[in-house]
Amino acid sequence: MVEIKLHNTKTRKKEVFTPIDVNDVRMYVCGPTVYDRAHLGNARPVVVFDVLNRLLRHVYGEDHVTYVRNFTDVDDKIIARAEESGREIGQITSETTQWFLEDMAALGAREPDHMPRATQYIPQMVTMIEELIAGGHSYEAEGHVLFAVESYENYGALSGRTVKDMIAGSRVEVAPYKRNPMDFVLWKPSSGDQPGWESPWGYGRPGWHIECSAMSYELLGDSFDIHGGGNDLMFPHHENEIAQSCCAHPKGDFARYWMHNEMLQVEGKKMSKSLGNFFTVRDLLDGHDGQPPVPGEVIRFVFLSTHYRKPMDWTVEKAVGAVSKLEDYLRIIEQFGDLEAAKGAEPDKKLIEHLADDLNTHSALAELEKMANHAQGTELATGLVFLGFFTHDDLAKRVEKIRDGKASLLPLAEKLHALRLQAMENKDFSPVDEMKNQLTIAGVMIQMSKDHVQLAPGPNFNPLELEALK
Ligand code: AMP
Ligand code: ZN
Repeated sequence: MVEIKLHNTKTRKKEVFTPIDVNDVRMYVCGPTVYDRAHLGNARPVVVFDVLNRLLRHVYGEDHVTYVRNFTDVDDKIIARAEESGREIGQITSETTQWFLEDMAALGAREPDHMPRATQYIPQMVTMIEELIAGGHSYEAEGHVLFAVESYENYGALSGRTVKDMIAGSRVEVAPYKRNPMDFVLWKPSSGDQPGWESPWGYGRPGWHIECSAMSYELLGDSFDIHGGGNDLMFPHHENEIAQSCCAHPKGDFARYWMHNEMLQVEGKKMSKSLGNFFTVRDLLDGHDGQPPVPGEVIRFVFLSTHYRKPMDWTVEKAVGAVSKLEDYLRIIEQFGDLEAAKGAEPDKKLIEHLADDLNTHSALAELEKMANHAQGTELATGLVFLGFFTHDDLAKRVEKIRDGKASLLPLAEKLHALRLQAMENKDFSPVDEMKNQLTIAGVMIQMSKDHVQLAPGPNFNPLELEALK
């Protein structure tokens, strides 16, 4: 069996991954808060953990992995959005959830096995809060229930902070009802028009962190293998999840391997609305601000070219590079690949080894490049599908398109060949040059030798430009 190594934030080391149960490898990843379109940064953890999901299924078997990613559908940002827009909360969250799924599917991300929504797990959250109160880890004050950070001695261990540092270094919400300023909210009161549920502490709603503890417990148990998310979530969200889960279920380990992706930037700068470099995944897919649409597989390619633990810079230059790389690969597959054979084939061993080495997607892409350089079209097709760039069906359609393009160019190749023979006789090459020019404008690649002419559609192939030549 392939040995997987993962960098564990908990130990700050790359460790051999040993699942609790090889027949059910369990992973939880924090998902989006649904009130707006996902921005490009939100897509990074989705793509990173999608690759891990594919790798785990390859190693342990398609049916031996459980992948959970939640939707936060109760949150103050959602309430604010409903107030601003005058729309119903449920309308906003269900629309945004649907958008998220469509946008992530366009990036080739498979859906997790479970996608729990916070509002469907309120009773489980209430039970967990009751357990925390009974265990002396939480207290009720002025309609709020707070987690007492001092009741959990390992609080801060994941991110390497002490409670003292935290108080000094962060903007904590000071509230008169908190015993310690770092204590965080498990439950808070809702006014009549805010979403709320009846509870032992009155009408209210959960704080943000408790949902992940309650949903992971319900779906994966008190100990599971991998917990993931962006590194902006390490503190306070993941610290708080650990404190809640370990105190409510002291017999379990909660998550054994913690994985955090680094942040995405745009053209070297933090993505932000004020810098004007903020855009959504949908903006890219559809084309925005006068830019052409960027296909999902191109976004995926750019993402995978940077290791997940390094900051990743989205640049137009990288996107342009990825477009031509993928086009090259498709042409190599068309020319040298056997798509039927690729369907049943195992992905290249080296490619898997790179992924098993703490998801080294950068080196996995370098393996694809080697296959391309060796004209290994079938292996290349298998690798691309494995990495989620295409499904077998998409790939077949794309290759077919190139084939049709090539076929439509055959008569033109013959015509160019004839013109060339004629030109050699009468020493006038201008008709040849003219035709070559026209073909280049149409994005056709030309290969001419003494006795034959080959034409192939290039990345910017536009058959309409050929009409004049027919
Ligand atoms: P949110 O909806 O803000 O809770 O974020 C959803 C997911 O996107 C979390 O896993 C975040 O860590 C991740 N995320 C947010 N911004 C970025 C970014 N710029 N780069 C990478 N991941 C991000
Ligand atoms: Zn979470």
